[in-house]
Amino acid sequence: MTGLPDATSISSAAEFYAQALAIEIEASDRYTLLAEQMEVHNNAAVAGVFRRMAELEIQHHDEIRARAGDLLVGGKKARFSWILPDGPEVTEFEKVHYLMSPYQALEIAKRNEERAAVWFEAVAKHTADLEIKRVAEQLALEEREHVLWVEDWMKKYPPAEAGWDEDWDQPVYSE
Ligand code: ZN
Repeated sequence: MTGLPDATSISSAAEFYAQALAIEIEASDRYTLLAEQMEVHNNAAVAGVFRRMAELEIQHHDEIRARAGDLLVGGKKARFSWILPDGPEVTEFEKVHYLMSPYQALEIAKRNEERAAVWFEAVAKHTADLEIKRVAEQLALEEREHVLWVEDWMKKYPPAEAGWDEDWDQPVYSE
């Protein structure tokens, strides 16, 4: 499923760190794009939230990279893709919607923070490696914290109204 390896079968620290890095890189990229989209909407407040989250995920990334050190040499390849709240993978994110509301942007963030947290929790639960367990537990806690922040922000914005994704510039036909 969307590039996430089975958390119950992580077999090495190298595999764990490579996957953790992929999760953090994807998150910081997506937050940067979400911030840009909110800037298009002149929503500086939500753009600021996403910029801050992009920074936090980059910090995670740097910490993981430092911790992993030589384990990453030789390049274990890992991949993680954000998905939309209803499931499909986000491939052309910039097109996901230029009419996307702050609420919808936050909803996407929440869904993917939860996915990351669940994955780290499952790794922590199943690994026999105490170091991996400790790092995975810590990352899971921090991702859970991100979920809570996103939820707090969602309270400030109304859910999307029906028809949000209709393009208002479409020609209107009449008989
Ligand atoms: Zn996060």
